[in-house]
Amino acid sequence: MKGYTGKILFVDLSTGRITDESIPDEVYENFLSGVGLGCYVLHKRIPEGANPLGPDNVLGFVSGLLTGTGSVMTGRWMAVAKSPLTGGWGDANCGGTFSPAIKRCGYDGIFFQGISNKPVYLYVDSHKAELRDATHVWGQDAVEAENTLEEECASAGKRPKIAVIGTSGEKQSLISGICNDRGRIAARSGLGAVMGSKRLKAVVLAGNHRTKCENPELMKAISKEFTSKVKKMNIPRFLSGRLLEPAGKLLSKMKSVAVPDGIMAAGILKKWGTGFNNVMGIVNGDTPIRNWNGSVLNFTKSRYRNLGPDLLEKREVKKYSCYSCVVGCGSVCRIDDITDGNFRETHRPEYETVSAFGSLLLNGDLDSILYINELLNRAGMDSISAGHAVAFAIECFENGILTNNDTDGLELAWGDAEAIIKLVKQMINREGIGNLLADGVRVASRKIGKGSEKYALHVGGQEPGLHDSRFDPMMGVHYCADPTPGKHTIGCFQYYNYVQLWNEVSWAPKVSMYPKDKEYLASRENATKSVAISCYKQVIDGVGGCLFAMTMGVHNWNPFRMLNAATNWNKTADEYLEIGMRIQTLRQLFNVREGIDPKGNKAHPRMSGNPPLSDGPLKGKTVPIRDMVAMYWEHMGWDSETGIPTEETVAKLGLADFS
Ligand code: SF4
Repeated sequence: MKGYTGKILFVDLSTGRITDESIPDEVYENFLSGVGLGCYVLHKRIPEGANPLGPDNVLGFVSGLLTGTGSVMTGRWMAVAKSPLTGGWGDANCGGTFSPAIKRCGYDGIFFQGISNKPVYLYVDSHKAELRDATHVWGQDAVEAENTLEEECASAGKRPKIAVIGTSGEKQSLISGICNDRGRIAARSGLGAVMGSKRLKAVVLAGNHRTKCENPELMKAISKEFTSKVKKMNIPRFLSGRLLEPAGKLLSKMKSVAVPDGIMAAGILKKWGTGFNNVMGIVNGDTPIRNWNGSVLNFTKSRYRNLGPDLLEKREVKKYSCYSCVVGCGSVCRIDDITDGNFRETHRPEYETVSAFGSLLLNGDLDSILYINELLNRAGMDSISAGHAVAFAIECFENGILTNNDTDGLELAWGDAEAIIKLVKQMINREGIGNLLADGVRVASRKIGKGSEKYALHVGGQEPGLHDSRFDPMMGVHYCADPTPGKHTIGCFQYYNYVQLWNEVSWAPKVSMYPKDKEYLASRENATKSVAISCYKQVIDGVGGCLFAMTMGVHNWNPFRMLNAATNWNKTADEYLEIGMRIQTLRQLFNVREGIDPKGNKAHPRMSGNPPLSDGPLKGKTVPIRDMVAMYWEHMGWDSETGIPTEETVAKLGLADFS
């Protein structure tokens, strides 16, 4: 046993037919599991030109190759489908406890095609898989439905693991995702809408198969070594999160970039989660402000200090970890001052959510952000896209493109928490102007017209993550060049530096201290780094790895060693990176087949500093994203003019059957 099960479950919702299918070993050796297996299956199963919300689209839930093998920090699962938001390759991943549950049912992935004629959920355990009526939970939010189904399907005290859509997925909002563990969300690419279009409310998993790997003792030793390093990394109790603000200011003034040991992040994440960057990012330029057109001068300390990590820490009710995690960057927080609704707690909002509903909207009201976080998690709506949709609406209102008539009298203004909450509720309920915004800013701006596209921040239809490409230019490359545009988890200079791939991969450029200005060049070295980190990320998404484990450095958390322990493949890191390149290229080939023009995935002018900001830490910064993307394409073996993988590359990677 090599860590994978060698089987997928295929469910045709139109006919109710459920079949087991075997996957040959060479597929895992060439594509791993997770995103790679997902892309392999979807390429073959989705007919060219399929409507993303029609019966021909295939929605997959895929576990990581290393999930359940005794490996550490490998508990993430992947949702995959053709994206209704971008029209191309769609994927999103999430942690929690759902990924190992897929394998416990005896499968690496569960795939759905067709459309059910009534709401259903799939129940799977070690002995059976069956579609069950979900009419009674249709209309419930993701947390309510998870509670109901958990109760209903519990057996002998054992509670199943559940992935579920909220009402946004049911209403086919193009910015909806798929939830598990009561509001964790695989948010990107609009895959909740695909699930809603299939009338599939939930996937309920209650299997008890064990996952085995080739060398469990070695796996245990590797995991132990990493765990003991993480255990030693602790932020002293007396260190306040307020120190992160001056640290951020200092960093923004530094002319050189140092390469730290990423293991330091373990202590920071344990204490503050991703919230460590809530204020630091604002003062150093990482966090976009006022729809990417403002700076810290617009969002001053009287507001941004309300979002500090210490304030969230004070709200903590309990800590939260994903399966196989030894860091635990999550927690559950109290909502103190808003009593509307039947909830008073929420998963601690991630940095992305705090920024999307904080600095992006000039909103310094922390309680409103906690409340919105729970509203969105329960509805199953992507907070990154939703925050951008609100910013777009406010800027349209400010410029007279939207008026009181369009908003049914709702006055939209930067920083007005009450109005922001009302608009979010309208988006969730698809009411009034919220109905337009619930499909993201590209759709909304196309329908509104009147020059509103000026304020629509997206790449290829998807709103970008909350990391400014004028601060880390490689982030901009991957916002545009990744086959799922707008994702902030593919690569940037900071990731590259923390990961230190050069310790394992022969061709990854080694860096130590270097001038920050070098990051703003369309150079061969930068392109090689971009290729290395994006291919490495495909390996991570193939094994179910956590992004934060990745950033702790390959010398600390090493998926190559773990893969060899699981499979006995004894491949080198270079060989694994080639698998990553194969997956990345296959994702791109999917887009090309679906008529996506890679050149069309352009950064909004604000993202490349056109025109540059006139104040703040990013003052005067411009980024040649277009040229950097072209060099990335060339170094990937894709045509530098068109972004289409060349015939030689396709042949070299063994992808001729897919082009
Ligand atoms: S570090 Fe955070 S996201 Fe990663 S596995 Fe642990 S709890 Fe999950």
